[in-house]
Amino acid sequence: MVRISVLRLGHRPQRDKRVTTHVCLVSRAFGADEILVNTRDAELEKTVNDITERFGGNFTIKTGINWKKYMQSFEGVKVHLTMYGIPVQDIISEIPKDRDLLIIVGSEKVPGEVYKMADFNVAITNQPHSEVSALAIFLDRYFEGNELKKRFNGIMRVVPSKNGKNVKIFTRDECIKVLKEQGADEKLIDHSIAVADLALKIGVLCNADLPLLECGAILHDIGRTRDNSVSHGITGALILRSLGYPEDIVNIVKRHVGGGIESEEAIKLGLPETDLIPETIEEKIVCQADNLISGTKKIKLENILDYYRKKGLIRSVERIRSIHRYLSDLIGKDLDEL
Ligand code: SAM
Repeated sequence: MVRISVLRLGHRPQRDKRVTTHVCLVSRAFGADEILVNTRDAELEKTVNDITERFGGNFTIKTGINWKKYMQSFEGVKVHLTMYGIPVQDIISEIPKDRDLLIIVGSEKVPGEVYKMADFNVAITNQPHSEVSALAIFLDRYFEGNELKKRFNGIMRVVPSKNGKNVKIFTRDECIKVLKEQGADEKLIDHSIAVADLALKIGVLCNADLPLLECGAILHDIGRTRDNSVSHGITGALILRSLGYPEDIVNIVKRHVGGGIESEEAIKLGLPETDLIPETIEEKIVCQADNLISGTKKIKLENILDYYRKKGLIRSVERIRSIHRYLSDLIGKDLDEL
């Protein structure tokens, strides 16, 4: 995996606090892996680490870096952003994408050696402006816009809104609070916690979005606070949507019942004609973790298949077996052994 680092030169902790913080935040939000700052600044490290802890990703910060030594020993490609360089649109295709990248930005005067040590001196227009804008535009050109789709998997989730602010907190405690507010009893909460524990055991082995998985699992039966029938997944989805939850969590809840329900079966069951088959990895994990937890106890695949066989629900038997196999293959271990 190619690693993208940003090296911030000339940082003066008192004077440049705000701008350097913005250089760090732009680096993180626009797809870089780490920021290196020449001057030691513990407060800056804390600010950036707090953001990463809450909003997610693996972004790291190091301050007090000897920039000259670092540039000399760096083995990848060094790109210095400067108004005196070659316009980005004329040079971007020559910058290799298969090697680690170090992007250097300055603050006040940048030492002449930097221009010589860099493999590319790149201008974002030849007009003077700011390291923050130069970095954002360079990263966007480098990633060809794909960085805008990056997922951070944090516990703070902004739900895009046309006219307001909607932020949801994807933690176990917050979701249990929501369950309680909707009237869930102890039994429902204990079952949800057992499903979440198993879901996380599976999720850590296959790189799933863990906060989404945990919250989807805790909330999967929220519909049962109103409706104990086969439509409790749909009821739960409606509750969560009315509370402003994003669709990725709504879909986990909607698609967890019976190993998923196909639209033809949905009509027979009196549900709206819609496919309720789990699609994403998190949807599949919550669905199968729920199948493998009876009350708060872990059961074997065969137990749950027997239950559906006795009800004559052969399509459910096939689907549950296939999700079980799919996830077991993915984590390299049978879910029955977890
Ligand atoms: N006069 C300074 C110098 O010696 O380069 C520029 C100071 S500028 C406020 C701070 C940083 O913003 C620069 O070091 C450079 O990294 C970035 N920057 C400003 N304008 C830029 C441009 N047009 N293209 C690329 N980078 C730019």
